[in-house]
Amino acid sequence: MAARIIDGKALAARVRERIAEEVTALADEGVTPGLAAVIVGDDPASTVYVGMKHRASEQLGMLSRQVELPADTSQDELESVVAELNADEAIDGILVQLPLPDHLDPGRVQELIDPAKDVDALNPYTAGRLAVGDPTFFSCTPYGVLLLLEEAGVETAGARITIVGRSNLVGRPLANMLTLKGHDATVTIAHSRTRDLGEVCREADVVVAAAGRTGLITADMVAPGAVVIDVGTNRDDDGSLVGDVDFDGVSEVASAITPVPGGVGPMTVTMLMQNTLEAARARRGGRA
Ligand code: NAD
Repeated sequence: MAARIIDGKALAARVRERIAEEVTALADEGVTPGLAAVIVGDDPASTVYVGMKHRASEQLGMLSRQVELPADTSQDELESVVAELNADEAIDGILVQLPLPDHLDPGRVQELIDPAKDVDALNPYTAGRLAVGDPTFFSCTPYGVLLLLEEAGVETAGARITIVGRSNLVGRPLANMLTLKGHDATVTIAHSRTRDLGEVCREADVVVAAAGRTGLITADMVAPGAVVIDVGTNRDDDGSLVGDVDFDGVSEVASAITPVPGGVGPMTVTMLMQNTLEAARARRGGRA
């Protein structure tokens, strides 16, 4: 069986088109969604990511503000910047790009972001709201995975879904989303201490790989006809971008699969834009 490729790039383009239309409609009401990205230091990958977010928000007609701080910024200084952005009426969404330099405490900074502006969904309050089944913002990467599953025609209700990885960025929030009423999946979270990863993957209708380990998921670990979503972004020996899934092998077994690049990646930034739009609506008196 040759798996259908789930095209994240095409899906992201369609979602962005819809967001742009909604931003235009808001502009008619005098509202421009505003996103602020704070970057500390000059980590090359972080600079690329923040640049992508900046371009995406400008392309969609949003206000984009980049706050670039030197690597020796103190915790107090960073917290003051977040406080200013919390109070800034023009800003609907705030993200602090990770990783931060070692002397800074990312958890403390995330806790200070106003939950109404927490478009990256990393504030423990936001994560807690999701965990108790009353979500505000969805974390961007798992939110993208939900849309990719929908695109693949997966009926999540009753489906057995194995998520490989239990991070607060991907695995954990995704499990909480998929078990919300309305999504109703039966979720298994596998992690580095899981005894037989192949076994828990083989019993799934959907495998989501988010471990950050090249080639971790091989064809023998996937049930025939399963859908496979590859969140992993790893660098190969030659520097090229690869996922956690042995794409060629698994494509022979799965019914549908996301490629890397061109799968989950384009959806992550897109869902940040979606969250910023939702934040703008909610803050300016729209739906909560
Ligand atoms: P993380 O390092 O915080 O978490 C990795 C998780 O995988 C851990 O819970 C760990 O227990 C589990 N794990 C590690 N080795 C394992 C193994 N051998 N078997 C089973 N589980 C194992 O990473 P993260 O931030 O969640 O990111 C995971 C991957 O997803 C990385 O490659 C990251 O670059 C990628 N990522 C991609 C996007 C995107 O937009 N495409 C966004 C976020 C993360």
